[in-house]
Amino acid sequence: MTTEPRLLIRPDKDTFLAEENPFEAMMERFDHAAKLLNLDRGLYKVLRNPEKQIIVSIPIVRENGEVEVYTGYRVLYNTSRGPAKGGIRFDLNVTLEEVKALAAWMTWKCAVVNIPFGGAKGGVVCDPSTMSMLELERVTRRYTSSIIETLGPDSDVPAPDVNTNERVMAWIMDTYSMHHRHTVTAVVTGKPVEMGGSLGRREATGRGCMFMIREALARQGTSFGKARVAVQGFGNVGSIAAELVAQAGATIVAVSDKTGGLYNPKGLDVPDLIAWAKKNRQLAGYPKAEVMSNDDLLTCDCDVLLPAALENVITSKNAPQIKARIICEGANGPTTAGADKILEDKGIVVIPDILANAGGVTVSYFEWVQDRGGYFWDEETVNRRLESIMVRSFKEVVALADKHKVSNRIAAYMLGIDRVATMHRLRGMYA
Ligand code: NAD
Repeated sequence: MTTEPRLLIRPDKDTFLAEENPFEAMMERFDHAAKLLNLDRGLYKVLRNPEKQIIVSIPIVRENGEVEVYTGYRVLYNTSRGPAKGGIRFDLNVTLEEVKALAAWMTWKCAVVNIPFGGAKGGVVCDPSTMSMLELERVTRRYTSSIIETLGPDSDVPAPDVNTNERVMAWIMDTYSMHHRHTVTAVVTGKPVEMGGSLGRREATGRGCMFMIREALARQGTSFGKARVAVQGFGNVGSIAAELVAQAGATIVAVSDKTGGLYNPKGLDVPDLIAWAKKNRQLAGYPKAEVMSNDDLLTCDCDVLLPAALENVITSKNAPQIKARIICEGANGPTTAGADKILEDKGIVVIPDILANAGGVTVSYFEWVQDRGGYFWDEETVNRRLESIMVRSFKEVVALADKHKVSNRIAAYMLGIDRVATMHRLRGMYA
C-alpha cells in the first residue's frame, strides 16, 4: 500500500458535460415518465428534490502520521415508502451530483421491485487502492459516525457499492452498534454471513442480471445456449453475472475491468478469469485471451452487452456502433439519455438499471427482514424469492412498455414513480 498524494482522475469532475451529468440524466427520464403519468404539479415538485443531503469532512491520521481530510456524502432522496436504502461508494470521482442521482435511482428501483424502502446513496471521495486496510477502516468509521444521526434500521440502511464490500459493512455495523451500546445488525446489509448477512446477497445483483437476460432472451425466442455475452466491469456484479450466465450456457466473449479488456470469440473461461483476478487484483496480463480496450468491448460483436462498471459508458458517440441486441444494465446509469434514443431506434432492448440490477437491493431487503426477525433462510429460499420478485418486476415493466409504447426504461420509471407518488397521495402532505 502506498501513501502517495491523491490524484484526481477527472479534474473537471464538478463540471460534467450536459449529457454526462448523472442527475440531469435521471431528471430527463423522470420528466418523460412524469408527463406520461400525468403526475400532478405538486407531487412533481416534491419528487424532483432530494429529501436530505449531507456533506461531511472526514479527517483521519494516515499510517505515515499525516492528517488527510476526505469528503463524504449521504443523500436521502425519498423515504415515503420506508427506510432509505442505498450503497456507499468509495471512489475519487464521487460527486454530490452523482450521489443525488444514485439516490434517486435507488428510490425508483425499490419501488419497481415493490420492496418497502425509500432511496439513498453515499460516497466518499477517496482512492482505496492507495490506502492501507487501517486507513480504510478509519475512513469508514469516521464517515459512519459523522452521518450517524441518519443511520438506523428504521431510517437509513447502507449497503456495498463500488469499492466497498462486506468488510466495510462490518465496520459500519460495529461503529453504529458501539454508539448505540448494543448490537444492531439490521443497520446495514451486505454484511458477512457470520454477522447477520444473508446467504446469496453477495451474488444477488449478478444473479438478478442473469434472470433478466434470460427473460429478455426468451422474449426474443432464444436462450442462453445461443447468446454471446460481453461484460464490462469484473467486480461484484460483473464477475458474478458472467459466471452465472456462463453456467446457464452462454458464451462470454469479452470481459473488462479498469485495467482493460479481454476477448475470445470462442468463449472465455470465467472461473479461470475469476481466479486470475483474485490473485492479481486485475484482469490485465491474463494470458489466454486477446487484449481489447474498454471502448471496443462496448461495440464488439455480441448478442448481450452487460455494462457493470460505472456511469456514462454508453453515449451518443458509441451507441450507433453497438451490435448487441440486448443491453442489461448491471451498473447504475451506464447509458446517457442521448444514447437511449439511438438504442431505441436501433431496436436494441435495454433492461434498465433500476430493474436489471435490483437483485442486490432485493436480497438486501431479505437480509434486513432476516436480521429483524432473527431467523435466517437457506440459500435456496433466498434465490427462489429473488427470482420470483425479479421475474414479476420484469413482466410488469415490459407490459407497461408495451401498453404505452415506450422503452423499458421509461416504463420502469413510470412504475417506480407511480408507486412512490401513490404513497405520497395516501400519506398526504405534513406541513
Ligand atoms: P466493484 O467495485 O466490485 O467492481 C467495479 C468493477 O468495475 C471493477 O472490476 C473495476 O475494475 C471496474 N471498473 C472501474 N472503472 C472502470 C472503467 N473505467 N472501465 C471499465 N471497468 C471499470 O463494484 P460493483 O459492486 O460490482 O458495482 C458495479 C456497478 O454496479 C456500479 O455501477 C454499482 O453502482 C452497480 N450496482 C452494484 C450493486 C451491488 O450489489 N454491488 C447493486 C446494484 C448496482
